[in-house]
Amino acid sequence: MSNRVKTTQLVHGDRRLNKPQNGAVHEPSNNSVLFEFDDVSELEAVFQGKQAGHVYSRSSSGSAVALQNMLSDLEGGAGAVVFSTGMAAISAMMFSLLKAGDHIVVSQFLFGNTRSFMQTLGNFDIDVSFVDVTQANNVQNAMQDNTKMVFCESIANPVTQVADLSGISEVCAQNEALFVIDNTMTPASMLDAKSFGASIVVSSLTKYIGGHGNVLGGVLVDLGNFDWCCFDNISDIYKVSNTAQWGLTQIRKRGLRDMGGTLAPQSCHQLSVGLETLNMRMHKTCSNALALAQFCEAQNAIKRVHYPGLSNHPHHERAREQFSEQYGGILSIELMDRIDMRAFINAMSLIICSTHLGDTRTLILPAATTIFHENGPQQRAAMGIDDMLIRISVGIEDIEDLLGDITQALNIAESQDS
Ligand SMILES: *Cc1c(COP(=O)(O)O)cnc(C)c1O
Repeated sequence: MSNRVKTTQLVHGDRRLNKPQNGAVHEPSNNSVLFEFDDVSELEAVFQGKQAGHVYSRSSSGSAVALQNMLSDLEGGAGAVVFSTGMAAISAMMFSLLKAGDHIVVSQFLFGNTRSFMQTLGNFDIDVSFVDVTQANNVQNAMQDNTKMVFCESIANPVTQVADLSGISEVCAQNEALFVIDNTMTPASMLDAKSFGASIVVSSLTKYIGGHGNVLGGVLVDLGNFDWCCFDNISDIYKVSNTAQWGLTQIRKRGLRDMGGTLAPQSCHQLSVGLETLNMRMHKTCSNALALAQFCEAQNAIKRVHYPGLSNHPHHERAREQFSEQYGGILSIELMDRIDMRAFINAMSLIICSTHLGDTRTLILPAATTIFHENGPQQRAAMGIDDMLIRISVGIEDIEDLLGDITQALNIAESQDS
């Protein structure tokens, strides 16, 4: 396992990139909504984008800029925008870049709420094709003259299908389409999205970046390799400065300022504290997840284990290549039919029955009847989600305690065997 980003950068980057006042080692949380100007011409210049600064904290604040600079730096990006949640980032990106009559190609293996948001896009006459992104030719076959964007997750939740990022990026380059990766499952410590040809990454900061289940957030990073000149939907008023900034400018103005999904300054600060320990937590999470997956695979009571770190996973080699030999913190399992899935989950004494993922604590839940309930049986089948599928989001506990909890829960559930 290797970490792509340097821990030194995670710990010292904030200070180096932003130089907080009064010798503070952190950009502090600044809660002022408004900003004073000594000269009205300065206020006018900031409003008109001719000078850097903040006018109203819905659009920008010092705390947001500090976090944005860090997250963009980690991805080697041209800039970033933070949002109140991951869903705010995804919806703002799509609503600010797409218009009626456009077509997009998205993964058929999507986070449940993103999948549900696609229905809303449909109401605005944006046509969506769902494809199996584990093979790039499916993406190629779905491309149309009006295709503006291809959107996929790096590792899908909960069945852990791994997208063919290089293949898809070639298709996008040939078709001048934006390639957007939701890299929530594989943060910058694991995936160099830019080297796999993505134009934009979006991510839920609520998960691994924050890491402690106490703050929501989302981010969008423009990786700086997309030619916005060939993107029809940029409004003339945002075609200012160099073309590399056109997309971000429109997303900031339309997606953040006008739609208002702003990340609060306090949340920016909390997320930047979480970011400091990203490498350590991901390292432990991934090694725990691999050990747990291998253990589950060896149990007679467990029928199937989905985890990209297992050598029999259909995309194991691809995952090794794309994610710096780490395989993420999500695994899912199916028990033998004779064992009651609910009895097993109820028998956990350490592992928490809860939604959410990317926490320091290990969490477990049935996928079909909870987060994917609204999707219905047909969509679930297309996503490979069995009715009895159990998702485990692995935390940073001591591995022997996790294995012990699974063992005792299996014993209890098996003894209730009908
Ligand atoms: C959680 C999640 C989101 C949404 O993020 P929120 O911060 O909860 O809004 C989007 N994509 C993926 C892959 C996620 O896991």
